[in-house]
Amino acid sequence: MKAEADPNLIVYFNGQYVPISEARVGILTHALHYGTGVFEGIRAHWDEGAQELFVLRPIEHYERWKQNCGILGIHVPKTAEELCLITEELMRRNNLRTNVYVRPLAYKSAQRIGVVPDDQDAFTIVALPFGEYLQHTEKGLHAGVSSWRRIDDNAIPARGKICGAYANSALASEEVRRSGFDEAILLNESGHVAEGATCNLFMARKGKLITPSVTDNVLEGITRDSVMELARRELGLDIVERSIDRSELYICDELFLTGTAVGIAPVVRVDNRPVKDAEIGPIARRLQQLYFEATHGHMAAYSKWLRPVYRTVPTAQALRTEMSVA
Ligand code: PMP
Repeated sequence: MKAEADPNLIVYFNGQYVPISEARVGILTHALHYGTGVFEGIRAHWDEGAQELFVLRPIEHYERWKQNCGILGIHVPKTAEELCLITEELMRRNNLRTNVYVRPLAYKSAQRIGVVPDDQDAFTIVALPFGEYLQHTEKGLHAGVSSWRRIDDNAIPARGKICGAYANSALASEEVRRSGFDEAILLNESGHVAEGATCNLFMARKGKLITPSVTDNVLEGITRDSVMELARRELGLDIVERSIDRSELYICDELFLTGTAVGIAPVVRVDNRPVKDAEIGPIARRLQQLYFEATHGHMAAYSKWLRPVYRTVPTAQALRTEMSVA
């Protein structure tokens, strides 16, 4: 899915709500030349039954963003809570009543030549309608291991969601798509499996769910965290965080990718080999259902992950609070 923005879309830019057609940066912007920006991706899901838009774990996303900005020395002069309020206001101003993707971006904004950064920083937040990110998630993806290695923590930290680092994801994505695959899997410099181009990776073997540890040059995904919680609590599965060999991808029982944009995307073939029977496996299928229910406000235990934008109907959490004060 390519998300093209409506020119009248209202975005938050330089402290104001303006149409996207007026939100412009100069061609000498430091981040444009040197990749010195940090971005986030946040989802909001529209629930038809509740007529409500639920923003998914925005506090965690904004806290991660601010931490990652710290890696590059970018200052975002708002708290995570204030950023959530701006995000919700954007959705209301655009009257978004569909699934939404939010893209916060903070960047080095000086207009000059020279790589040494200074303290001129800016940030923007864009919220736009957004459907499926990857094609073929219904029948499962065919992933290919890229010849490009995942960037190393001592080069550009993968956990940092740093703009310039996404040249690595772009190279890998383009390479494997040209070879006919749907999505890339990247190995790290030690030769172990790191993650997809824009998503984390899970493998099921012998009833356990295994994912690379956070020190394997991966982004510390929030969907990864949500999936681990659902798998543990709802399916009673053991989760193991450890390095994964490439050849384990070829012999595992299930493989799937997780991320804000992709959700939970099962992989049924990898490097032209079937994953088990080349069908979406039972763990991925069940996690997809649970993730859908949890993110659309249907599971009270996970309402802690959601912030309703319109608050036209009381959430399960609000109902419980009302009942306890009544
Ligand atoms: N890895 C990379 C490289 C990513 O860009 C993303 C998307 N943010 C993820 C993993 C998944 O992270 P999250 O679940 O927080 O979206």
